[in-house]
Amino acid sequence: ASFEEADLEECFKENVRKANYDKPTPIQKWAIPIILAQRDLMACAQTGSGKTAAFLLPVLSQMLRNGIEGSSFTEVQEPQAIIVGPTRELVSQIHTEARKFSYNTIVRPVVVYGGVQTFHQLSDIAKGAHMVVGTPGRLLDFIGRGKIGLKKVKFLILDEADRMLDLGFKDDIRKLMNELGMPPKNERQTLMFSATFPEEVQMLAKELLNDYLFITV
Ligand code: AMP
Repeated sequence: ASFEEADLEECFKENVRKANYDKPTPIQKWAIPIILAQRDLMACAQTGSGKTAAFLLPVLSQMLRNGIEGSSFTEVQEPQAIIVGPTRELVSQIHTEARKFSYNTIVRPVVVYGGVQTFHQLSDIAKGAHMVVGTPGRLLDFIGRGKIGLKKVKFLILDEADRMLDLGFKDDIRKLMNELGMPPKNERQTLMFSATFPEEVQMLAKELLNDYLFITV
């Protein structure tokens, strides 16, 4: 298996080449076709496994295929993809990867996290946000203030689900799901990644995912 053979948009293959990724890691080999087939997914994978590219590449590809408009300056942005992670460090890493992969495309990813003033993040969002990566509290804050609209969300990714539960984000995740609403089957693709798979994570997967596939690497 190679990235060349994967059914990804050419621009992303080009950026993968630029990143010097030689061949897909196991999680990438398994997850990319599943996500491109528009299935919900629960994946057990550690940091360092290449899990970030495993979800970013197929999600970005589908976003371009579905058609997105170029960024325009508006106070409310309506992203197609929301990625939630437990810490500033993790969401910043995901954002860095997302920017690397969307280089030279019209996709504009932005990152939001708590513990800092909102001003810079809000002005960044207002410039365009096709994909928002964030920690749960700050995401909910911006959604509640009407800065991020959820009407166009087609992809929801929860990364490091076990750590989010350990850090007490369960209620925030619930609130986020309520804000998103439970759409009819197939309107939204939901992906969960977790290093471990304890009962609480299994329950969350059962609750949030639709007819999902499970992989572990
Ligand atoms: P992650 O597990 O997503 O945090 O990725 C761990 C590191 O591996 C990151 O620095 C990635 O840029 C890098 N990486 C991901 N996939 C590949 C690949 N197929 N080949 C080489 N490096 C990779």
